[in-house]
Amino acid sequence: MSHIRPPNALTALRRTAVSAAVPPSVDEIIQSSRPEESIHCLRPAVLRATAARFVAEFRGDVLYAVKCNPDADVLEALWDGGVRHFDCASAGEVALVRGLFPDAVIHFMHPVKARSAIREAYRLHDVRDFVLDSAEELAKIMTETGNAQDLGLVVRLGLPRGNALYDLSGKFGAPLEEAVALLRAARPLVVRLGVSFHVGSQCMDPLAYRRALALAGEAIRQAGVAIDVVDVGGGFPVSYPDLEPPPLGAYFAEIEGAFDDLNLPQARLWAEPGRALVAAGSSVVVQVQHRRGDTLYINDGVYGSLSDAGAPAFRFPARLIRDGGARSAATLEAFAFFGPTCDSADYMKGPFFLPADIREGDWIEIGQLGAYGACLATEFNGFGCAETVAVRDQPMLQTPGHPGDDQLDLAA
Ligand SMILES: *Cc1c(COP(=O)(O)O)cnc(C)c1O
Repeated sequence: MSHIRPPNALTALRRTAVSAAVPPSVDEIIQSSRPEESIHCLRPAVLRATAARFVAEFRGDVLYAVKCNPDADVLEALWDGGVRHFDCASAGEVALVRGLFPDAVIHFMHPVKARSAIREAYRLHDVRDFVLDSAEELAKIMTETGNAQDLGLVVRLGLPRGNALYDLSGKFGAPLEEAVALLRAARPLVVRLGVSFHVGSQCMDPLAYRRALALAGEAIRQAGVAIDVVDVGGGFPVSYPDLEPPPLGAYFAEIEGAFDDLNLPQARLWAEPGRALVAAGSSVVVQVQHRRGDTLYINDGVYGSLSDAGAPAFRFPARLIRDGGARSAATLEAFAFFGPTCDSADYMKGPFFLPADIREGDWIEIGQLGAYGACLATEFNGFGCAETVAVRDQPMLQTPGHPGDDQLDLAA
């Protein structure tokens, strides 16, 4: 990947910040560098603590879904928090994770893979676990691994549309009958057989996992084969303004209860969290370039780090940072944003609540952007990728069941 990276004082700052024992705060960074390009503010301590808590409380293996945020500093922080399994979806992600962590267990969890990606993953990067949702993909995996005798294969089950903000039911997953046939066909070929699903991202209902596990149980019963892995996928939610999910523990309780009901004592549970591990771990600081009524023209947008604020219309927590650290006494008002590109679709309706006197030159920190933020940025219209710095701040929003202020060792 080539990024437009203009020479920038922040590059030096990033190096200092990442290696410093106690990173600076967001406000210190902004007051000292007064950035005119957007900056990502990574919270390594938050990432570490969030990962450590998920790993400790989930009764099974935690596979981080790399696509959600593949930044090397993010992956390092999750590793430090105890994550050892990685859910990769491309040859690039597999090579990235293997390059950073020789001892990581990598799972190739995209149901439709390039033949070359299967070969590379198996032969160069020691990947043994592959997901599939069709007979064609099963044949492809067997051919490209030379009919390997040491494979773990996971059959992805399709789910009916559920109660998630992002529906993922349309693209992947075998219908029940086909999943049954795939489980039977794969069993004699593998050392490890699993069944997986994805309830959809930002899933607001813990019962969605119970329903999906019941369907997985039905597939397993009908197939009549031994099962080694039940993979409940991703979808674990975080807080956004006016959208507070049930505590993470409520999801784990439904999963464990429904898994126990399947009566598969020899099987292992896997989860593939993306958003839940990293959303609170990063924010982006943008600058206001122009104000027109209640619309602010800012220097990042839907072609940059704020893709989810565009058409998906996610709302994010926002706060003013004013030059010199001055505070605003003005009341909060609802604002919408335009991004920097010339496309009128580069629009984020929010609402984002900010002081009524906000003006050109002010900065805005926008939170909960560690998931599906920076990694979706393009170079459209000459606006490149934002720099990343490490900071010691808390998350901008607390998610129930995630580590609180008292559990974050910010100096570590
Ligand atoms: C995207 C994805 C995930 C992560 O989903 P979140 O909703 O971010 O937790 C997990 N598994 C698969 C197969 C995915 O495609």
